[in-house]
Parts: sequence; structure tokens; C-alpha cells
Amino acid sequence: MSGTGGGSSTGEPAVDRQGRDLPLDAHVHKDQSPDSNVPIDVYAALALERGITELAITDHVDFDRRDPAYDYVAFSERERTVRAAAERWAPLGVQIRFGAELTYHRAWESDVRDHVRRHRYDYTIGSVHDWPDSPYTRGRVGAWASGRPIDEVVAPYFNEVVAAARSGLFDTIGHLDVVKRYLFPHVTPGELARHPEALDGALKAIAESGVALEINTSGLRHRVRETYPATWALVRYRELGGHNVIAGSDAHRSEWLAWGLEDGYRVLLEVGFASLAFRRGTETVQVEVPDRLRLPSVASARA
Ligand SMILES: [Zn+2]
Ligand SMILES: [Zn+2]
Repeated sequence: MSGTGGGSSTGEPAVDRQGRDLPLDAHVHKDQSPDSNVPIDVYAALALERGITELAITDHVDFDRRDPAYDYVAFSERERTVRAAAERWAPLGVQIRFGAELTYHRAWESDVRDHVRRHRYDYTIGSVHDWPDSPYTRGRVGAWASGRPIDEVVAPYFNEVVAAARSGLFDTIGHLDVVKRYLFPHVTPGELARHPEALDGALKAIAESGVALEINTSGLRHRVRETYPATWALVRYRELGGHNVIAGSDAHRSEWLAWGLEDGYRVLLEVGFASLAFRRGTETVQVEVPDRLRLPSVASARA
């Protein structure tokens, strides 16, 4: 299998890395996220053109006032925008779900709980980011990573992921090991892969809680050059009994919609997940991975 050992998950890049004919891109940011200026109709038109039949719009919601998506766009305004677009595009063949990517930390868990109690989303991703007081901010991460064992370096991050999984607040845990992005190049994906035990607690908590684990393909275009999480972590998740998975591109620009997503689906198949399985609000959803992806890609045929 390509990608085990922490290198690139996909081998050589294909010419067109933006996916086509896929059933779902479940992680998309538009212009109601502070870090995107893409109108929803641009994504929807692209999805239609490329045969991506379902999008989950997951604009950021932050809970620490120092973070950019704190109080950024009111829930009602986001809901109105996404639901109106969903009505416009459903007859054309693109399903649009109203979701959010909620930044999690135990410090503000009660605020997240309050938020999801008061507001009904179709779909929620809980993500741990480099919170303002974390050791992973640009000014601190170099000193934090130097001279410490890797397990200790990543522990503050994964402790929050464990708590996010156990909180029961989310449908999905987003970009599980994105801490490797913050740590790069002080700790490389290869070094992290040599310490799989560092992720075990988080993978166990996700498998046990039943929250879905996202394969997020944005890492393929970041310097880490592998998905979040890495293939080996998905293998371990499956060994631990995890069966709920979902895939998203984490697009913030139109050219990133479904970017690397076909590779993401292919990795899921290689690991043994023939379908996406996740919770969407109160329903349990299963989405088959397209059969054509069973054929080896040019890149993995070469590997
Ligand atoms: Zn995120
Ligand atoms: Zn995101």
C-alpha cells in the first residue's frame, strides 16, 4: 500500500487532482468562513460540472474570542444562505448540507454544547486547531518540539481530540492528526509514523465513541504531503474496530473543491472501508465508495 510509513499517500501527482464523479465532499468552507471568499453557488456549479453529487458546507465556528471565526457570521445568516442554495441546487442534482466545523477545546466545551443544543445543523465536524495558548502556534512550536520525546510533543493536541471524541457533540472528528502540519518541519510525518502509539488513545476514543473519522485530503497539498490522518493511522483505526469514516477536501478556494478527494476515497478502499459511514444529525448514513476506484491508480500501480 502506498503511503504507509508516513511518506506521500499518493505517489506522483495526477494531472487533475480535483476529483470527479464522487458521491460526497464533506468538508467545504465558503465565504462565511473568515479564511475563504468563495460564494456557495461557485462551489455548487463546480460540483455539478464535476459530478460531485453532495457537499457538506462546514464553515468555521470558533469559541475563543481570539480566534478568527469567533462570532464571525450569525448562525441564522449561515443557515439561510446554505438552505436557500440547497433548494436551488437540489433539482439540478447537487445535494447541499448545512454543516459547521466547530473548533473544540475542553476549555470551551460547555459553549460548544450550548451552541449545538440551540442550533440545528445537518452535520457537525469537531476539530482541534492550534488554540491561542497552545504550544503549536508559530511563535512557540519550534521551542516546544525541540528536545522532547514525540509522544510528549503531540500529547496536548491529542488529549483534546480524545475529549472531543468522548464529548458526543459531533458527527465527525476533523483532520485527526493536523498537529503534524503545525509541527512541520520540527517533527516530520515520517517521525510521527515511527511513534504510532502517540495516536492510539485518540483512535481508540473515536472507535469506541462511534463518531466518524474524517479522511481530510488537504494535507496532500500542504507541506506534509499526506492525508489527515495518514494511511497507517486509518489502518490502526480499523484494527481497533473503527468503522465510521467520511471524506472531505477542506476546500477554502474553488480550485480546492474535491482536491485529492479521489485519492482519499482510494485510501479508504485500500484500508478496507468499502463505504463511508457516518451520522448526520439523527440519521445514520452509508455512502458506497465508487467501484471504479477499486482499479489501481496510475500512481499506486507504479509504486
Ligand atoms: Zn480545521
Ligand atoms: Zn476546515
